[in-house]
Amino acid sequence: MKTSKIAIIGAGAVGATTAYAILMRNIAAEIVLIDINTIRCAGEVLDLSDALAFYSSSDIRNGTIADTKDADIIVIAAGVAQKPDQPRTELIEKNKEIITSVMKSISPLNPDTIVIMVTNPVDIMTLLAQTLSNIPHNQIFGSGTMLDSQRVNIMLSKKLFVSERSITTYILGEHGDTQFPAWSSAYVGCTPLLEYPGVTKNELDAIAESVRNKAYEIIKCKGATFFGIAACVAALCEYVLFDKHMIVPVSTYIDEFKLCMSMPVVLGRRGIERRIAIRLNDEEGKLLEKSADALKSLIM
Ligand code: NAD
Repeated sequence: MKTSKIAIIGAGAVGATTAYAILMRNIAAEIVLIDINTIRCAGEVLDLSDALAFYSSSDIRNGTIADTKDADIIVIAAGVAQKPDQPRTELIEKNKEIITSVMKSISPLNPDTIVIMVTNPVDIMTLLAQTLSNIPHNQIFGSGTMLDSQRVNIMLSKKLFVSERSITTYILGEHGDTQFPAWSSAYVGCTPLLEYPGVTKNELDAIAESVRNKAYEIIKCKGATFFGIAACVAALCEYVLFDKHMIVPVSTYIDEFKLCMSMPVVLGRRGIERRIAIRLNDEEGKLLEKSADALKSLIM
């Protein structure tokens, strides 16, 4: 019988915590962790399996690349992570090698599989994975700025005393230093954020800056970020498996720029179903181009 299966490649801090977040959501019958460090992977599975009785009906086990063949979703979190004060872009060379070897090992992909890239710099790794795969571009996307966008919504929620679920802000572009919030298209309930009382442009700028630097801040304090991204990836898995047609900002192929970066899309069982038009003012339009230029310089 066909049941939902999620394979996670890279059972480090992000991969293992993603497995935990997925099992807490109870969305997959089978979760398989795969890592070249088979001992750490086995340890993570032993530890995670203790949590099953309290949360979930999933089965969790360690596996091999062969497990990706019938997976509904493959999450890729293999790679080196940032050190304190290190920009994501410095991980490029090492992670390109790792993602190239991972993509070769899982090819050819089952034509119905969805691949979620998490390895940083995620926009560059998403494009690389798309280039090396046999499935359509819309079935491979990166977590992109979805977490950054929720960080903004949470900060606005505290300022405006409105639930973050009633606030919609999209951070666009690179998941990195050139990302920016599209304030002119942000809403609090049915009111444009820029017309909503209680927050000034300076305060919005400070929020954007703080979100841009949040990963650096966390890494400085504890060496890595994993709870937020794990919760974000588990939510993305749910939107795919349950064909939710959620509108989310994730890293996707953008024809105009010929690269991957985050824009709002409709996400369902077939991956990215379509892009959603977003109105940007002149300043935001320039910021989008600047972000695309920064990514382009990394691809060359
Ligand atoms: P980590 O060092 O804890 O774990 C990485 C794991 O990848 C290790 O267990 C390692 O053995 C494994 N690995 C390396 N090469 C492999 C291969 N060829 N096949 C299978 N496994 C392999 O690092 P982490 O903190 O889990 O971070 C993982 C990646 O996720 C990093 O690139 C990090 O920058 C990125 N990350 C992305 C986001 C995001 O928002 N997109 C957030 C946090 C971390």
